[in-house]
Amino acid sequence: MATNRTFTMIKPDAFEAGNSGAILKMIEQTGFKLIAMKITKLTSEMAGAFYEVHKERGFYKELVEFMSSGPIIAAILEKDNAVADFRKLIGATDPAKADVGTIRKLFAKSISANAVHGSDSDENAQIEGGFFFSHLERV
Ligand code: GDP
Repeated sequence: MATNRTFTMIKPDAFEAGNSGAILKMIEQTGFKLIAMKITKLTSEMAGAFYEVHKERGFYKELVEFMSSGPIIAAILEKDNAVADFRKLIGATDPAKADVGTIRKLFAKSISANAVHGSDSDENAQIEGGFFFSHLERV
């Protein structure tokens, strides 16, 4: 069933570079509403659990180290067609392949340090939002 919510993280590279405000502005200006948001720092265990689906991939260790290397912002966002529209706004995983005007084209440093996360399905949006937020922490 399609839902109107997605989940995002501003990753350690973008947070450290001071790009969180600019990224949140782009997100709001594209019509997404903030439903839940927090600044936090993942332990390597938490990052490993979040990205468990990629456990067998060659980049898993690097990804876990990177995602636990500094603070992040986690958020649940709401908009019609949220998952697909947000993937369009962030652009391709590899910033070299991301369309002009996308968040990753503007702010990502590499395929690993690529500024933002965006859920790839309604099911994962729900699981990932639940990883960070209780029902009391969402509006
Ligand atoms: P996404 O849905 O666009 O975030 O991409 P994936 O779900 O395929 O991968 C999850 C995250 O793993 C990406 O956002 C990157 O941070 C990282 N990643 C994906 N592919 C690679 C890769 O080939 N090399 C490295 N170093 N990191 C990768």
